[in-house]
Amino acid sequence: MLHLKTAEQIELIRESNILVSKILAEMARIIEPGVTTKKLDSVAEEFIRDHNAVPGFKGYNGFPATLCTSVNDEVVHGIPSDYELKEGDIISIDCGVVLNEFYGDSAFTFPVGEVSPEKQRLMEYTRQSLLEGVKQAVSGNRVGDISRAVQDKAESGGYSVVRELVGHGLGKGLHEAPEVPNYGKRGRGTKLKEGLVICIEPMINMGVRNIRQMSDGWTIKTADGKPSAHFEYAVAVGKKEADILTTYKFIEEILKNK
Ligand code: MG
Ligand code: MG
Repeated sequence: MLHLKTAEQIELIRESNILVSKILAEMARIIEPGVTTKKLDSVAEEFIRDHNAVPGFKGYNGFPATLCTSVNDEVVHGIPSDYELKEGDIISIDCGVVLNEFYGDSAFTFPVGEVSPEKQRLMEYTRQSLLEGVKQAVSGNRVGDISRAVQDKAESGGYSVVRELVGHGLGKGLHEAPEVPNYGKRGRGTKLKEGLVICIEPMINMGVRNIRQMSDGWTIKTADGKPSAHFEYAVAVGKKEADILTTYKFIEEILKNK
């Protein structure tokens, strides 16, 4: 069953995602070699609580932290730890909050210092694949139109698409229907309607698409140890174009002055 949102509810979900967008910008500010992923987590949690929201992931199915911090060959769901970021790492930070009863859920992959051209290109293609997916989030299209657009862009760069993990509906639940895979066929799947809010979140690998789960029960890594990138927007399906509820503008402002 799809939970279609009213215009007022979409504004509340936007507020939640703007808070997440600002948290991600705080991360952009403090990410540097030597910073631990635990430190990022504690800054994020404090920021969320200072804004009268609560972490959306902490305790969700038992997840122990505010952020998912996934470095290099970690795809998603990395647990913040004493690991110190190193020059040349890439780190996906995925953050969820609950504000006014609605979830925000967005992610960005950051470079740590100077990264290799190969990693830079992987991040660019992943972000572009997200934007290609977003273009399809219009009323009358189907989920498969989004999925295929993401897949085509990622594969055109020579990359592979993680299949086991998917985007999702967003609202009072963190993971609502429908599932939004990053691969698929045009014209297939749930029909998109105005009022539907979804997270589109490509997880794109430099090498093989296969993944493995670590013994901590959470961290997902690439099977071949090659890097992976992850970007996530929450969007409301629109009549002519998607209404993007996440913004990277705060991140961009920090990164361009770094
Ligand atoms: Mg997320
Ligand atoms: Mg998500």
